[in-house]
Amino acid sequence: MDRKLMDRRHFMKSTLAGVGGFFLLGSNDKKQEKKVVDTKGKEKKFVYRTLGRTGLKLPVINMGVMNSDNPNLIRAALDSGIIFLDTAHGYMRGRNEEVIGTVIKGRPRDSFVIASKVVPPQNRATGIYTEEATTEDFLKKLDISLKRLGLDYVDILHHHGVSRRESALFEPVLKALEKAKQEGKIRFIGITTHMNEPEVIQAAVDSKFYDVIMTAYNYQQKYYAEVRDGIAKAAQAGLGIIGMKAIRGATERIPFKNPVASLKWVLQDPNVHIVVPGFTTFDQMDVDLAIMEDLNLSDSEKKDLQKEASIPGLYCQGCRECVGQCSEGLPIPDLMRAYMYVYDYRNLSMAQDLVVSLNLPQQVCRDCSQCRVHCSVGFDVSGKIKDVIRIREVPSEFIA
Ligand code: SF4
Ligand code: SF4
Repeated sequence: MDRKLMDRRHFMKSTLAGVGGFFLLGSNDKKQEKKVVDTKGKEKKFVYRTLGRTGLKLPVINMGVMNSDNPNLIRAALDSGIIFLDTAHGYMRGRNEEVIGTVIKGRPRDSFVIASKVVPPQNRATGIYTEEATTEDFLKKLDISLKRLGLDYVDILHHHGVSRRESALFEPVLKALEKAKQEGKIRFIGITTHMNEPEVIQAAVDSKFYDVIMTAYNYQQKYYAEVRDGIAKAAQAGLGIIGMKAIRGATERIPFKNPVASLKWVLQDPNVHIVVPGFTTFDQMDVDLAIMEDLNLSDSEKKDLQKEASIPGLYCQGCRECVGQCSEGLPIPDLMRAYMYVYDYRNLSMAQDLVVSLNLPQQVCRDCSQCRVHCSVGFDVSGKIKDVIRIREVPSEFIA
């Protein structure tokens, strides 16, 4: 990334934090509140927003299923009033979709909304799609996902993990999505991005092709103001906006102090229609759902966020500033993401799949007397790589 651009981002962040742009005025969701009775007979208040031009009316907090293969937790989420389940073709090597399939079997089709995702084969260091990224490959993966889920169609299918404008507009994938929509296998077309988000969001808007954008968006992003502007433009253009990566761990052993405040920070933006926290326990689910009782940030929550905003935590910003710096051409952002999967998500199979897919040499980071990579948030890149790379040696049956 251009140094001038990063400097502007730092400047914007500090300026906005100073004048109050870090926090927005609370949105008025009063008209869209609903009372929901959970499985224990307890009445809860859910706040609904409409997911852009899809017209889907959803509670603002839903479930990112990614880190859970517990059918009872997914069942409890649906029974508690959650409608939207977010999964992907690659999560848990397909098991994630299979477990969801067992949970939704027999439930009325209009009682839940399912989003899945397919990521095209790509060069992990550059994000450029390879020759294997064909219309047929994309459609084949969708068919496998539908089979695992036991469904004729998914409500949203995302073009997944997009980090470049040309990828967002990549014709073979657009053709596949169009065909799948015509054949009734998907209702709405989405795109996800957790790297270089402003560029991808702008491309999605320009394309006039996508219905939904799912983007990383959190208070620790150095360039959150740009992401926020992009989201505003996209929402204005009628796209539905899903926020992800709202809650990040502070260190390898300490989760962030105030996950509730992190989620509220994203939802204070009225252009974000829903978020999909990846809760893995019943207690976490209850905490997340309770946020809808009052979406406004209290003064102490604001203080916590301001305090934590400058901590790099475990979250790779996806700014790509490190790209091209490694003398061995290692895909640093992907390796930092794998590290986050291990220590933040505690999702070892995802980390192992990602590391193995990178086709790295047997020895990495051994021949450099000093690491040349400068990370914009100060990660000890080579230290994290040496740590996470060990996951290649763990037999996959120990992890799955
Ligand atoms: S130490 Fe590792 S990450 Fe750093 S430059 Fe060398 S190979 Fe690349
Ligand atoms: S590793 Fe650091 S420099 Fe590279 S993309 Fe992530 S945050 Fe940016």
